[in-house]
Amino acid sequence: MFTETLTRPGRLLDLLTGPHGLDRYTELVDRTWIRGQARARVVAVRRTTPRSVTLTLAPNAAFPGFRAGQHVNLSVEIDGRRRTRPYSLANAEGDARLELTVGRHEGGLVSTYLYEHARRGMVVGLDSVAGDFTLPTVAPDRILFVSGGSGITPVMSMLRTLRARGHRGQVTFVHYARCADEACYRGELTALTAAMPNLAVRHGYTRDTRGSQLPGRFGSTDLGRYDAVFACGPAALVDAVRAVYPDAESESFVPPVYAARSSGGSVVFAGSGVAVTDDGRPLLDQAEAAGLRPESGCRMGICFSCTRRKTSGTVRNLISGAVSSADAEDVQLCVSAPVGDVTLDL
Ligand SMILES: Cc1cc2nc3c(=O)[nH]c(=O)nc-3n(C[C@H](O)[C@H](O)[C@H](O)COP(=O)(O)OP(=O)(O)OC[C@H]3O[C@@H](n4cnc5c(N)ncnc54)[C@H](O)[C@@H]3O)c2cc1C
Repeated sequence: MFTETLTRPGRLLDLLTGPHGLDRYTELVDRTWIRGQARARVVAVRRTTPRSVTLTLAPNAAFPGFRAGQHVNLSVEIDGRRRTRPYSLANAEGDARLELTVGRHEGGLVSTYLYEHARRGMVVGLDSVAGDFTLPTVAPDRILFVSGGSGITPVMSMLRTLRARGHRGQVTFVHYARCADEACYRGELTALTAAMPNLAVRHGYTRDTRGSQLPGRFGSTDLGRYDAVFACGPAALVDAVRAVYPDAESESFVPPVYAARSSGGSVVFAGSGVAVTDDGRPLLDQAEAAGLRPESGCRMGICFSCTRRKTSGTVRNLISGAVSSADAEDVQLCVSAPVGDVTLDL
């Protein structure tokens, strides 16, 4: 707001504060006072389960907004390096404050950092709101949400958005966690059932089954028929949901395993003086297997953290199947596999 007001007369202040522009100076006062980049200040931190942390964020004016179900690339500085990972927003569409719930990953860099060090006042980068896993503007009548673990975040956003819109159709929310203590948003979901008579919530616990309202894994209980089904969680849960509801919209946070087909070509990491024979896996895996540590993030072509310059050769995009052979092009290492010889600036 401050930055906006100050700059409304146009680019005049930028000119007066050149060559760096106004952002360079306002940022020194407050790291979120910057027009060119979406950033947010952490205003609350809650650790409501033993393996997750929930952050409330106040975004600056550059944050473009989002649709319920979408994710944002969050950047945080760890030991002097900017690290980026996608996280789904859990708050309702249009809320002034954003919410993220991050599940701590065994051996995971960013999730462990946030779990251990997130604190009020911390500033994070927000970039590239995206994703097709979204709640339609006109919501279908009967809706089933299914989530597992931290996959609850985008469907929580959808549920909160439906509530804000005064949705009157039947909503069933099924969430799986390892045990009751690890079920994110358990208290809020229970409270919501009192506020929304059209909402039914059922929890399933897969390791310590005490208190579980669903016997066994998804599919063992008939949950009925719905106009729309949204599922987010581990690949096995999403597959089980699609087996029962083939038209379900779904998302998984875990990278798929791509079938490896070696092209027999050589992969040269020119900047490191390392060369390997293509084993068919994504270039990121091959670089890591060769002992290199390129920046990486989602490992599924979403966050672009691993983008590097290919200086020669042909690669295949493992998601789209597109083959490209232009010299000097940027490729996402996590979803690109060599087709013959490839040289990378890495
Ligand atoms: C669209 C989308 C939305 C998401 N939303 C959420 C969300 O709302 N909440 C949430 O908690 N998560 C979400 N995620 C997952 C999130 O982006 C991160 O993947 C997660 O937090 C783990 O990141 P990390 O830095 O802790 O782990 P990383 O350091 O990236 O490691 C991830 C895993 O890979 C292993 N690993 C690391 N390096 C290597 C290596 N060199 N070789 C082999 N294995 C390795 C680690 O042991 C770990 O188990 C989302 C992901 C996507 C794609």
